Amino acid sequence: MHTESITLQVSSLPRFIKTCPRCKHPYYENSGCFRVNANGKRLDIWLICRCEHCKTIWNLSVYERIDRTKLQTEQYDAYLRNDHALILQHVFDPAFLQKNRAVLDCEGIAIQPVGTIPPEGTAAQILAASGYPLPLPAGRVIALLLNVSLSRVRRMHSDGTLLFNGDLRTTKAARTFSFTLLDGWKR
Ligand SMILES: [Zn+2]
Repeated sequence: MHTESITLQVSSLPRFIKTCPRCKHPYYENSGCFRVNANGKRLDIWLICRCEHCKTIWNLSVYERIDRTKLQTEQYDAYLRNDHALILQHVFDPAFLQKNRAVLDCEGIAIQPVGTIPPEGTAAQILAASGYPLPLPAGRVIALLLNVSLSRVRRMHSDGTLLFNGDLRTTKAARTFSFTLLDGWKR
């Protein structure tokens, strides 16, 4: 059996589940921008989010009063230029989310797979990997990769044409997971 590697790219900045105190809208969008404030040698860095509806600002703390010299120049520059990969790194960091009591809208995380799924009927082990610890159920990502519904993935799993070592609903895709398509698998 051969192995296919698929890279899971996050194609947009995920939003957060949070009720706006002003307009009661349930979601905040990620502005894609950091705010960096220098006060002498100390820096405060926030990730700016805003209510999708009324644009009320919500600043998520990245660093508070950090010594400027603790950040490497390259890293500091990445904050100044609102580096996309750096934003995603924070957004998927459980410690950052917990510190800010922020909850990602997992339903809205858009994944762009890069790689090839073998033709129907051909057995293969699929290794899926992401640069971020994705909090999505692996079953949902498998459904996306095979271009079928989640219930179809569950049926393939129960009829034995798809092997997955975990729970399709609760095991997270995380940074990497794998599943196996057996001979004769069908969409
Ligand atoms: Zn609002």
